[in-house]
Amino acid sequence: MNNNGILVVISGFSGAGKGTLVRKLMEKYDNYALSISMTTRDAREGEEDGVHYFFVNHKKFEQTIANDGLLEYASYCGNYYGTPREYVEKQIAAGKDVILEIEVQGALQIKKKFPNTLLLFVTPPSAKELAQRLRDRHTETDEQIAGRLSRATEEVEWISKYDFLVINDDIERSVDRLNDIIVAAHNVPIRQQEMINEIKKDLEVMTKGEL
Ligand code: 5GP
Repeated sequence: MNNNGILVVISGFSGAGKGTLVRKLMEKYDNYALSISMTTRDAREGEEDGVHYFFVNHKKFEQTIANDGLLEYASYCGNYYGTPREYVEKQIAAGKDVILEIEVQGALQIKKKFPNTLLLFVTPPSAKELAQRLRDRHTETDEQIAGRLSRATEEVEWISKYDFLVINDDIERSVDRLNDIIVAAHNVPIRQQEMINEIKKDLEVMTKGEL
């Protein structure tokens, strides 16, 4: 059995509740490591540097790109966001399933580089609900909310590239669904190729021995 960790990308519309979902997933289950992204956007109230994001200026972000320090990066609503390479590589090697909570452009870059990545897309049950959740969290101006909804309109086109949709109607149930999908995804044959090759080799030896 292959016990390597897998890379799991969780994307979703802004306001879909993926932040809460991921936080609860981390609290409830042991085997996950959450990647902390680097961003040039300003910290929101209550957000801490090194906990929610590494908040940096454009210069530092560009230096990190130049040093090949990011696995992927993208521009989203006027700011850069990227995944620091080192942490992800270490945690995967340690057997953890690493969660990347990133938007669609980054997700597709990761899938291209690491084809075994599991791509999950979180959505509320309806667009109406999405807009309401964005308004209710009071962290963005009306203009920013409009920008994020417009971005969601573009993101819809990319959903079919994902492996699973997670419909976030109830947070507790969605956390368990998310975990169930990830556990099951370990046993998709593409992720167990080493074990399959081993069985194949042994079968060949056995059948030759019998002849
Ligand atoms: P927010 O500003 O709401 O924290 O994040 C905006 C969007 O950027 C979300 O869709 C979030 O998933 C995405 N994001 C956060 N970190 C990264 C990252 O490292 N890379 C990419 N490509 N997207 C990210």
